[in-house]
Amino acid sequence: MTKLMKIATEKNPNMLPQFSERQMHFSRWVLTVAWLLVIVSLFYDPWTSVLTAPNHPWSPLRLPNTCIQVQGKCLSEQPYPLGTTLFWGAIVPSAIFILLVFGHEVWRRICPLSFLSQIPRALNKQRQFKRENAKTGKVRYELAKVKSDSWLGRNYHYIQFGWLFVGLCGRILFFNADRLVLALWLLFTIACAIGVGYFYAGKSWCQYFCPMAPVQKIYSEPGGLFRTKAHTSDQTITQSMCRITLPDGKEQSACVACQNPCIDIDAERNYWDSLNKPTESFLRYGYIGLVFGYFVYYYLYAGNWDYYFSGAWARQTDQLASLLSPGFYLFGQTINIPKILAVPLTLGAFTAVAYYLGKIAEKQIISLSRQSFPNLHVDVVRHRIFTLCTYIIFNFFFIFGGRPIVATLPVWVQYIYDLGLVSLSTLWVYKTWNRSPDLYSRENLANRFRKQLVKLQLNVSQYLEGRSLDDLNTHEVYILAKVLPEFTKENRHKAYKGVVQEALEEGYVNYSSSLEVLQQMRLELGITDDEHRKVLEELGIENPELLDPDRQRTLENQIRLNGYRKSLERLMLLQQQSSNENFDQLLQQNSSEIGALRQQYFITSQEQEWILSGLSPDAGDKRRAEFLLAQLPNLITCYRVLNQPIIRQHQAVLTLIKESIYHKEELIIRSILEILATQQNSPLALKLGLSLGQMSSFVLVELLEAEPWKQRLHPEILRYLTQPSSEWNTCSLESSPSEVLQHLEALLGDQNPSLQAACLYIIAQLESERGKSIACQFTSDSSKVLRETSELLLSLPVPYPSLDSFPTLEKVVYLFNSDFFHRMHPETLVSLAERADVKTYTQNQAITEAGDTCRELLLLLSGDAEIRYQLTDDEIRVESLHPGQTLDELDVLAHSQSRNTIIASSPKTRILAIPVHTFDDLLDSDSDFARRVLELESRQLQRFMRSINSP
Ligand code: SF4
Repeated sequence: MTKLMKIATEKNPNMLPQFSERQMHFSRWVLTVAWLLVIVSLFYDPWTSVLTAPNHPWSPLRLPNTCIQVQGKCLSEQPYPLGTTLFWGAIVPSAIFILLVFGHEVWRRICPLSFLSQIPRALNKQRQFKRENAKTGKVRYELAKVKSDSWLGRNYHYIQFGWLFVGLCGRILFFNADRLVLALWLLFTIACAIGVGYFYAGKSWCQYFCPMAPVQKIYSEPGGLFRTKAHTSDQTITQSMCRITLPDGKEQSACVACQNPCIDIDAERNYWDSLNKPTESFLRYGYIGLVFGYFVYYYLYAGNWDYYFSGAWARQTDQLASLLSPGFYLFGQTINIPKILAVPLTLGAFTAVAYYLGKIAEKQIISLSRQSFPNLHVDVVRHRIFTLCTYIIFNFFFIFGGRPIVATLPVWVQYIYDLGLVSLSTLWVYKTWNRSPDLYSRENLANRFRKQLVKLQLNVSQYLEGRSLDDLNTHEVYILAKVLPEFTKENRHKAYKGVVQEALEEGYVNYSSSLEVLQQMRLELGITDDEHRKVLEELGIENPELLDPDRQRTLENQIRLNGYRKSLERLMLLQQQSSNENFDQLLQQNSSEIGALRQQYFITSQEQEWILSGLSPDAGDKRRAEFLLAQLPNLITCYRVLNQPIIRQHQAVLTLIKESIYHKEELIIRSILEILATQQNSPLALKLGLSLGQMSSFVLVELLEAEPWKQRLHPEILRYLTQPSSEWNTCSLESSPSEVLQHLEALLGDQNPSLQAACLYIIAQLESERGKSIACQFTSDSSKVLRETSELLLSLPVPYPSLDSFPTLEKVVYLFNSDFFHRMHPETLVSLAERADVKTYTQNQAITEAGDTCRELLLLLSGDAEIRYQLTDDEIRVESLHPGQTLDELDVLAHSQSRNTIIASSPKTRILAIPVHTFDDLLDSDSDFARRVLELESRQLQRFMRSINSP
């Protein structure tokens, strides 16, 4: 038992992947043939009834010589063929057992019905739609999929449950014992599965129609006892994901993304994703009622439990004759409701009552747990309620399920059967109880991080004492990263960027959720929120589609694209082995095979282009560099245009805009330089180098000076980049106001709300009506700085007053312009601005007095101030302060009392006061900021020391 518990609770017991798809395919064939034989036996079986004859010498299934009473009368029983008893008493309970113990991943890979539903795909006879490209006129055919927003896509849970309900009613009424009806029902179900396989691609039968799907969900989510964990697996083909076996024996994904999230790819992800959906409670509580109702009905019908436990219901071959006879027998009396109505009424009532009782109980438990365990997340409470429900219904089911056959075995076998089931289900609870969405997420991210560590090819063996990276648990992976000397700041950034990119590609996070979802990981790695935003910025520059909120990304889609890419790679490799043609010629020659592959994997023209560029690294670099280069001219012009005299009066705001453009340009040029460094002096590099050099960007000049590119780039490329161009960087004085406006409006599409607000402010200052009409679009923006600026532009009189009438924008702008907060990410500046206050002082008013406790960091916004340093008893040194400078920051850092007096020295002096705890929080959470503050302060101190030492 201890060994069993160990296997069950291991990180990834990996019991299943040792079976190859070929072996599973063989098992599917065997089971399917066996199932079809059972169906055939329902039509014709002259043999097995011998085993049930009352006088059979050894058969445990021989009819007993006892009276089984139904509604007060003994049933007369005849020897019967075993088909129905076998089907209901052994096959169906085995399926439930497999689901809880081995998980859906075994069941879905051996299920005969799922196998049969794939016949149309195997025969290449599936419904297709004709798609014509409006531009090129090219025609392609696409297989049909169930759309998630279609009626079926939204309601399939209810359809599956409804079918299950009909099936259980049908069992009691029509085909528990009537072999012909059961055979027809099974054949009808097989026909439906094949039909769905024709109408829809993927495993649509299993996902949207199969009545067993809710049962699979209940018993095998978040996973079976001996499940594999898809989210911590290093395999690309996980659990029961659709796959094919290639001629060389390797397996390849055949996923067409027919469902999202898909239980076959990662059951646990599917579970957490649907945990709070109303369908989940309906399925789980309703199912308990349905199963209770189903078994209790036998008692309500016969008036005793013998009828059920003897299995007589599976051999009443005249079952249809009782449809209109009384459906209930209680307290020795028949109740004259026909059985055909009594069955759906009973099962329906039990389902409805269980559902409502379940909802009420859930509410009570959640409210009790809130009082007693306030730290326990409601999702965990819900998960534990569902876990208990599954445990109860599993054991209840097996009190009845399989019992007619088990009851014929010796008593000690029955004890082992009962003990085995209770033990296995208890182990399942033990393993499932402590799972939580948070734990899943941490494991998932640690696994992504582990993959990035592998990519970095760091020497980790000396720290692992014979173990591999895959053996490390979530905490160990992060601890290892912390102690690895090779895991430098740059590698940490690379690894984190890789994790974010992968998580974005799979739709695991999006632009807005990434900050929160990856928070724990950042804490583990000591990565600040600003660094995260920087990573997003870089990814957005390299691949803007990645952050496009309108583009829905999913793991399933990613798997589909990878599957296609691998098939294409393989096709090209095979062709290259037998031909000397180049890549493009091979593509042309194999267009029909590629067309078939595209159809199989639903590949659009855009996806095809993207995948082709990834197949040939040069093409990928070329596409990326061209994309990056195309953005530069606009940014360069924009930067120049913003130097126009007509807007210089808004210098502080302009600095924010220009710095943002500069930063973007810097990111783009750095990415192009990376490509150039990889390509050295290839024709592509020469072409790119020439184009980049001709753009005359001073950012390029600065980057080449500040960073070690000269050592990394080929001399020829370097020559292109450094030779002066005829268009050398001169600020044109000729831009018209409309040109300025046009560029500012283009910047409004940026993701940075501070930049948007700053642009909007200047647009409104230049052309108030235009500013107003644009402001209307942003009045409900989620960022305070943009929302408030827009609202003020709509309410303030024209001509618009200066920046001090726009409180949040003003604070952000001045924070941005200050030395202290200059390189801080705009979103951090906005949150800092929200916590800071603006204070106004008149001439000679004291801002701080010597001896005051420093509670705020002060930033001079406008006006002037003087710091009076008390050097000796009668010697005072006065230093003037100007807008943008911070006051008394050393005392703030030391949390000490102010040693100097600061006096306002202009009629109106405005100060931005940042509470000291806000500043401390920032120092704690942002090591970069802390380092910058230290640098600034050391410089400040050196200056101060020099000034007092100078005569
Ligand atoms: S989403 Fe992919 S893996 Fe899942 S059932 Fe559909 S095709 Fe198969």
